[in-house]
Amino acid sequence: MTQMTSEAGFLSLGQATSRTIVQHSAARGRLQRTLLIHGPAGSGKGAFVDDLLALLLCQAVGGERPCNVCPGCRAARARTHPDLVIGSPERWREDRSTGESIVAAARSWLADSAGAPIVGERRVILVEGVDRANEQTQNSLLKALEEPTSRHMFVLVADEPTRVLPTIRSRSQSLRVGSVPHAELVAWLVDRERLPADQADALARIAGGMAGTAIGYARAPRLVDWRRRTQRELLELMGRGRADRFSSVRELLDDAARIGVEQPSEGEVQVIEDGVRPTGGAQREAALLIVEAWLGLARDLAVAAAGRPQIAAAAALDPELPEIAERIGQPAIGDFIGLLERIRDGLRQNAAPRLALEVAMLSWPTQAPR
Ligand SMILES: [Zn+2]
Repeated sequence: MTQMTSEAGFLSLGQATSRTIVQHSAARGRLQRTLLIHGPAGSGKGAFVDDLLALLLCQAVGGERPCNVCPGCRAARARTHPDLVIGSPERWREDRSTGESIVAAARSWLADSAGAPIVGERRVILVEGVDRANEQTQNSLLKALEEPTSRHMFVLVADEPTRVLPTIRSRSQSLRVGSVPHAELVAWLVDRERLPADQADALARIAGGMAGTAIGYARAPRLVDWRRRTQRELLELMGRGRADRFSSVRELLDDAARIGVEQPSEGEVQVIEDGVRPTGGAQREAALLIVEAWLGLARDLAVAAAGRPQIAAAAALDPELPEIAERIGQPAIGDFIGLLERIRDGLRQNAAPRLALEVAMLSWPTQAPR
C-alpha cells in the first residue's frame, strides 16, 4: 500500500481522528515519545504506520509534513531508513541465537536499539505485534520506554490493545485505526485499485469498512469468489442434518486450503496480516479463513434481522436472506457470532481446526430446506 506520490501529508485512508491528533501534536512539537497504534487485523494499520514513520523521519523544513518527496520520507516508507529500527516477537524468535529465549533476544535487541541516531536527530523504534509478545517481553519493553531520552521515539503496533500491559498503555499516546466510512473506501477503491463502482461498493461491504481487508480482496479476486461460494454453502447447510454438516467440513477446509495457498503473501487480507501462528499451518489458516467468511455471513444475518438487509453484503447470495434472518431471530444469531469469535480465538491459539469447525456446525442454526 506504499504509493509514491508527490502529494504531501498522510496517504492512508480514513482515520481522521488519529491523523489529526498526530499531525497537530507533531506540528507543535508535542508528540509523545511512545505511540501505540492499534486496530483490528485488516484495518490497514500498516499504511497508517507508513505515514507516521514518514512524518517522524521527514526532513522537510516548513510546509506540510510528511512531504513524501525527501529522502527521509522515502526511506521511512520503504522502511530502510538508517534511523529506523524494527522489531516484533516473530523477528526476535527468528533472530535469536541457539538456546536463547525470545525474551533474551528482545532484551538484546532493545539494548542495541538504544544507540545514537545516525542521520537525523532521533531514532524511531518500531515494535510490531506488541500484543503478541508475552508478559516478560513486554516488561522488558516497558523498561526501555522508561529510559529518559529525547533521541528515541517508540511506535508500538497492536491488533488488540487489551493484550498490551496497562503500564505500557498508560505511557503511550493511543491512536486507533478502524473502519473507513463506506463512501470514502468505495471512492478510494475506484480511484486507486481501478475497480468499477459496483464492485468497489460490494468489496467495501464485504470488508466491513476495513481498508486493509478490502485492498486484499481487490488484489485477489479469487478470494472473493471463494468467500461467496463458502457462504452459499453455509446457507445451504442450514437445511441439512449433522451428518451432512460434518462431511462438509472436510470439503470446506480443502477448498479454503487451496485458496490460502494462492493468496498473495504481501497482501493485507485479514488472516495474513497478523503473521506468524503456531504450526498446524495450512489447515489452521484454512479454518481461520472459513471462520472469517462465516462471521461475515452471520453478521449480515444479524443486520438483516435488525431490518436492514440492504446493508448486508450477503443479501446478494440469497433473495430470502431477510426472511431466514427473521425466522432465526437476533438473539440466536448473536449467540452464534459469540461462539464463532471464541472459536476464532481458539484457532489462533491451539485448537484443532477440524474439530473447531465441527463445533460451529453443531450450533449453526437450522432452517427447513425450501
Ligand atoms: Zn519528507
